[in-house]
Amino acid sequence: MATIQEKLINHVTDEQPPAPTNKVTIVGVGQVGMACAISILQRDLCDELALVDILADKLKGEMMDLQHGSLFLKTHKIVSDTDYAVSANSRVVIVTGGVRQQEGESRLNLVQRNVSVFKGIIPKVVQYSPNCTIIVVSNPVDVMTYVTWKLSGLPKHRVIGSGTNLDSARFRYLMSEKLGVHASSCHGYVLGEHGDSSVAVWSGVNVAGVPLQTLNADFGSDKDPENWKEVHKLVVDSAYEVIKLKGYTNWAIGLSVAELTESIVKNLSRVHPVSTMVKGMYGISEEVFLSLPCVLNANGLTSVINQKLKDDEVAQLKKSADTLWGIQKDLKDL
Ligand code: NAD
Repeated sequence: MATIQEKLINHVTDEQPPAPTNKVTIVGVGQVGMACAISILQRDLCDELALVDILADKLKGEMMDLQHGSLFLKTHKIVSDTDYAVSANSRVVIVTGGVRQQEGESRLNLVQRNVSVFKGIIPKVVQYSPNCTIIVVSNPVDVMTYVTWKLSGLPKHRVIGSGTNLDSARFRYLMSEKLGVHASSCHGYVLGEHGDSSVAVWSGVNVAGVPLQTLNADFGSDKDPENWKEVHKLVVDSAYEVIKLKGYTNWAIGLSVAELTESIVKNLSRVHPVSTMVKGMYGISEEVFLSLPCVLNANGLTSVINQKLKDDEVAQLKKSADTLWGIQKDLKDL
């Protein structure tokens, strides 16, 4: 007997639907992974979303919860599995999996544990999606981007760390609060290492092309009567504060990763402050990843914008590079 489907639908062709062209995979369905997922889905950035984690039940639960929202989304296929085969042929793979720092644990120890975790993730990602661009979000993000680059064997333009994209977004939000102008019209870059040693490039901070430093020569310095330096301090402190208040950060990083994903899948060639291999730039001689303004498009991270940095800003970048290399040089099994 014919089924309802057979009675309802007359097929005009037997052709199968084409393979996805904008598949995105998220590895790690924790707080950050799921914030990335919902931000990407709500912006219609992929025609298939795959989720991968080691926790089978949580993974299935998150997948089902998203699938139940299908009526309100335009991504018709949402899949998940602990097996990386589900991620095959992804255009972009976002890595948020990893372990957190334990009390009293050194940074190097944490990184070494995350190297072990990434050894189980990155080769599988590349096996199933050899042409993908990887966006690394797991912390410490600059070191983990280096680890991913090493483990993946991918060219450096296809391994990107989310870096100071979030720090810069926080900076522009705080600037907007101070000036009463929307964050999208408040321009400024926080570069370097994501987190404590990031560098605010005060000379470039502007609204409508008006550099704020031309309005106040001490802008961003210790002598500044308006204490704009505090804005950068708040950026550095904000992750700690949010984690203290709610246990983790997720919404802003999820939104910012969706923005990076959009530039890649829509081939936009937009400039974002993200973590890239900086050897040979600003006098840095080691293979470290730090954030600089980078062009992202369908080929990945294709160029770095040469920003004119002041001597003290370059010195800060070099100091971060030394700190990161100090950790990376002792990593085993890469
Ligand atoms: P979480 O603990 O909520 O989620 C981590 C997920 O990773 C879990 O679901 C876990 O099962 C999964 N996981 C662990 N090992 C795995 C493996 N081998 N393969 C696949 N999945 C695995 O953590 P979270 O709050 O989502 O944070 C994730 C990471 O993102 C952390 O490293 C955090 O520090 C980082 N983070 C980065 C930024 C940034 O700006 N770069 C911002 C916020 C958080």
